[in-house]
Amino acid sequence: MRDVPLWREPVPPDGTTMGEPEARGRFGEYGGRYAPESLVEACREVEEAFRQAWADPGFRGALARLLALHAGRPTPLTPAERLSQALGVRLYLKREDLTHTGSHKINNVLGQALLAARMGRRRLIAETGAGQHGVATATAAALLGLEATVFMGERDIERQALNVFRMRMLGAEVVPVTTGSRTLKDATSQAMRHWVGATGDSHYCIGSVVGPDPYPWMVREFQRVIGEEARGQCAAELRTGVPDHVVACVGGGSNAAGTFAGFADTPARLVGVEAQGGAGAARGRLGVLHGCRSLFLQDDEGQITQAHSIAAGLDYPGVGPEHAHLRDLGRARYVTVTDEEAVGAAVRLARTEGIVPALESAHALAWVIRAAGDGELPAGSTVLMTLSGRGDKDVSTLKELL
Ligand SMILES: *Cc1c(COP(=O)(O)O)cnc(C)c1O
Repeated sequence: MRDVPLWREPVPPDGTTMGEPEARGRFGEYGGRYAPESLVEACREVEEAFRQAWADPGFRGALARLLALHAGRPTPLTPAERLSQALGVRLYLKREDLTHTGSHKINNVLGQALLAARMGRRRLIAETGAGQHGVATATAAALLGLEATVFMGERDIERQALNVFRMRMLGAEVVPVTTGSRTLKDATSQAMRHWVGATGDSHYCIGSVVGPDPYPWMVREFQRVIGEEARGQCAAELRTGVPDHVVACVGGGSNAAGTFAGFADTPARLVGVEAQGGAGAARGRLGVLHGCRSLFLQDDEGQITQAHSIAAGLDYPGVGPEHAHLRDLGRARYVTVTDEEAVGAAVRLARTEGIVPALESAHALAWVIRAAGDGELPAGSTVLMTLSGRGDKDVSTLKELL
């Protein structure tokens, strides 16, 4: 299915887009803190601690050091030479696939783990779908001497045996979730319930720009490093300084939010690419899930429905509240691609640039390929695309298809 082009002119750079949320953690009519009373208090503590830490050069310096020495930042901006030539646009890849543990998730997790240690917490609680966020959390916990408890749906445990082993190897406890669809949505619900009884000594480390305030804001700030690095790299690399389009895949929306944050005050057009079966921003309706008011896939009775995507990281039935708001503003637009398009894009990147991307990231590329083909991306335009992760985790999925 083809998305209808919906360009409105970008909101003029007023310096406020992608700043702090409004009172009570709102992005327009989205966001908020819809949680049981005990978690509202815990979220308040996280917000206070984050606010102080983020204003503290000592914390910023310690995080920058971890990102450089442990995660391998800054990541390169790679011109995709052969693919660009074939597509007739100039495509630049922000290489989050080259970070330690293989995706952008590590940026957020190192930030939250450092914050947890500063708050005197001794344990991280996390949910995971494909296991990427779980592995990143287990990694950060090991690095900082914290414990890690990771909730994971029973079905995902079966499907992602390698990542389950990696988490256990890193010393994390992996707790199987047997309720509901036994996948990410239920793992998240269970992790939140578990946190209710453990707020005193544990920090809940959410893996995307979802959940109750302050998580959507805090996680975006921890991922902002992607956009800020890319902004500087584009300034050095491009004659115009800023690319015409900035593109990223959207599950909950953290790699996209971090990328967009670096370009929100520029004329660059922001495009979030969702999986056809997990298109919260493109097709969701207003609802509340996991502590937050946002756009979710729902049935006629308002029940949240199950998402379906070949990319486990895009298999979430909603989208972060700030993306819902950016969509309403017309500052970013959200498009969808199919599983088949994503697989095709992954193969094409592998064979033209020697990079096997994560299937999530391949969604963003699939849109670039389609839009270059149908003229939506005019010939010669410059495109920055965040390559959120590497494809090692997807080889067993791809092996069955190719
Ligand atoms: C988790 C994941 C995503 C989706 O999460 P966002 O919060 O939308 O960024 C995308 N790409 C990779 C490689 C992932 O691991």
